[in-house]
Parts: sequence; structure tokens; C-alpha cells
Amino acid sequence: MTKKCFCGGEIVVNGAQIRADLLVIDDKIAAIGDKFDLDKCDEIVDCTGCILMPGAIDAHCHIQLDTGIFKTLDDWWIGSGEAARGGVTTVVDFVGPEPGEDLRHALDFRLSQSQKSIIDYTYHMTALDAKPETLASIRQCPQWGISSLKLYTTYRPNYYLDDASMLKILETAASVGLTTLIHCENDAIVSAESARHSDESLWRAYPAMRPGIAEVEAAERMIRLAEYAHARLVIAHNSMAETALAVDRGRKRGVQVFNETTPQYLYLSEQNNQNSAEPWRYILQPPLRSPENNAGLQNAVLNGTVDMVITDHCAYTRDQKINAPNGTPGGLPGLETLLWLTAAIPGISWPDVARVLCRNPAKIYGLWPDKGELLPGFDADIVVLRDEKYIIDETKLTTFAGYSPFNGHQARGRILRVYRRGEEIVHDGQIKSQPGSGRFVHARVAL
Ligand SMILES: [Zn+2]
Repeated sequence: MTKKCFCGGEIVVNGAQIRADLLVIDDKIAAIGDKFDLDKCDEIVDCTGCILMPGAIDAHCHIQLDTGIFKTLDDWWIGSGEAARGGVTTVVDFVGPEPGEDLRHALDFRLSQSQKSIIDYTYHMTALDAKPETLASIRQCPQWGISSLKLYTTYRPNYYLDDASMLKILETAASVGLTTLIHCENDAIVSAESARHSDESLWRAYPAMRPGIAEVEAAERMIRLAEYAHARLVIAHNSMAETALAVDRGRKRGVQVFNETTPQYLYLSEQNNQNSAEPWRYILQPPLRSPENNAGLQNAVLNGTVDMVITDHCAYTRDQKINAPNGTPGGLPGLETLLWLTAAIPGISWPDVARVLCRNPAKIYGLWPDKGELLPGFDADIVVLRDEKYIIDETKLTTFAGYSPFNGHQARGRILRVYRRGEEIVHDGQIKSQPGSGRFVHARVAL
């Protein structure tokens, strides 16, 4: 038995920030208090002047991604290291079956890749069709420790699902308690606008090719389908303040619908595509929107309409973004900067940061009560940080992508130490852990 006491800091717990010490026994939080017998502790971690947060959960990222068209060149040792340096101790990544591939087979392949991880992980299962064998596999997901599905309203021919297929999958998911995460962009609008702007520079015209109304339409339609199917829904990487309002309206009707956004949509805008000397940095789906929309989404995070902030991390390199022969892969790196950028939202408190990065993702995806809080019995996933502001310098990051779209942006929170299940995995920016120390988290379904 190993006892560690984290002394002298302020702890972010249960929606508050309190002055207290934290006792960890082995891999679990044992107690919060101020009178621990330090002589009986194996290690005393001096946290004077620091804040202790639960480890962040990135509920939507793509480490070692293969879309069938593009591949990122990172692996789980690299990706989990970037995450750990940024205070992310758990990720929910994606199983990406090939068309026709057995879902269990596809999951086993991803589990073999993530064996190198130093942080904990689970997966969303992607469904590409509503064939009987796919629906049968979906019913198995809860036994496999998978609590959520990922569906797409766009990207023909492999990912796109029509409404009839969506409905079948939503009903099947609901019957076994799975939550369904949907990428929402109206495929017809995106196709029409992409054709209309096809003779313009892709990097400049990208926002016009995939307009915001395409997202809002698809999100509203999916919320109605989920309402009809009594399914539990998450709108993926919400880029529009208006989509958050649609989620809010759905919730008021009693629909179990949640939504997530990313630092991309909180801080970057279509002006980056239009005015930057390096517009290749800003290609992602959905694309960037207006600066007013940034403020609307920041406000939606503060007032709780947006439930989670996630990265949608894809480690495409600078060279891939600029030179890929088959077009510019969409997706931006962000695992290392998620916590700092979320904490930099004007007016946000540390308990609010913990709500959108820890508590809500843990509850929505069934990682609670192991992850998401610093309460007795929870995993000792702890970030020790100083409440400092600074400017992100991409040359000081370890990003595998070789750049950050947030270079020059305001950040908050200097991460000193990161613990995953009681093991110190980052100390002053240095990785302390060995490949494979992270493990699969068996997510629970909402039944
Ligand atoms: Zn994604």
C-alpha cells in the first residue's frame, strides 16, 4: 500500500474550489481533509500555491487515425504523451471499421494499437450501415465496455447514413442503453456549396463550402429523430452557437441530448481562412465560423448549454496539411492545449473547467464514478497546476503535428505534475511513465 498526501493546494471538487489536502492510497482518492498523519505517508507532494484538478477527459479525439483516405502518422505512445502533458488522463477515441468489417474485429485492432498508451482510454464505436449483422454487433457493445456509437450525416460513400438507417441504429442503441454521437452536417447543402465554390482556393473558401446552416439543419433533424426513437444523443463538435440553442430546446422538451464544442470554434474564425498567410492551418470539419459565433459558444460553455469541450484532435503534420496529394486532410491537433484553452475562456472558473472537461464527459459516457471527480473512491487522476496566464508558443509544444492552430493565443494554467491512477506520469513537462501503463476503461451504458 502506498500513501501519498497532496498538501497545501486548493482542490477543485463538487463544483467548488476549496483549500484542503488530498490523500491518495495506491490508485484511488482516499480522503479530502486537513489533518492527515504525514509521518505515515510514503510521499508528500507540496502543492502550495497550486490548484488540483481532476484529470481532463477528452471525450472526442483521434489518435493514430486512418480515415481510409488519410492517415495520421502518430501512435498511442506519442498521442497519449501529448495528452498527458496537457493534463488529459483519459480519452474516448474511435473504432473505425472498414466498410463491411465486423465491429468486434475493428475494436480489437484499435485495442492492440492503444496498448502503448500511458493514459486511460475507451472508444466510441463507428457504425457505417444498418445491416442486421451491424445492429447485432451494436447490441453487444455494452458487454465490450463500449457505451457510445458514432454516426455521420455526411461523407459519401463510406460514412454517410440516410435517415432510415439513422433511425434503425438510434432505436437499436436506445434498446441497450448506448449513447449516440452524431457528426451533423447536411450532406446536400455541403455538396451543393462545395460545387459552387470549387474554382476557388479550398483553404480560403472552406467555410463557405460547408455553411453553418448545414450543421444546424442536421442537428435539429437528429434531435427530432432521437426524440422519436427515445435515444440518448450527443451532437458532435458543435461549431454553431445556434446548434447549442437547438440542443437547449430539445432538452426542454425532455429529449436526452448533449453537445460538445472544441477550442477551434471557441477561438478561431473564418477570418483565419480569409486573412492568414498560412490558411492551411485552418482546415477542419465543420469549418470555422464568424467571430461573433466564438463569443456565443464561449457563453454557451459558461452557462452550461454546451456540456463538454473536446479536441477532435488529429495529428496531421504540417507537411500533410500543405502537400497531401489527395487534398488537405481536415482536422487539427489539440490534445496538449485543451485544458489551457478551456481555462482561458473569459470569466470561466476552475470548477467550470472541471465541469466541461471532467464531470460531464464522465457522466455522459459512463466513466463515472471512476473518472471525473476528486472524491474518495474515484481514480487518482490529478493535475497539479499554477493559475498563470501565458501565450501559446508552438515551438515550445511537443506536438507531433509540428504546429498549433492556437499559436499566439492566450492560455491559462501551468501544469506542473500529472497523475494517472496515482502514478506520476508527467513532471515539469517530462513524461515519467512507460508505454502501456494506461488501460482500457470499461464504460457503462445509461440503462
Ligand atoms: Zn472527430
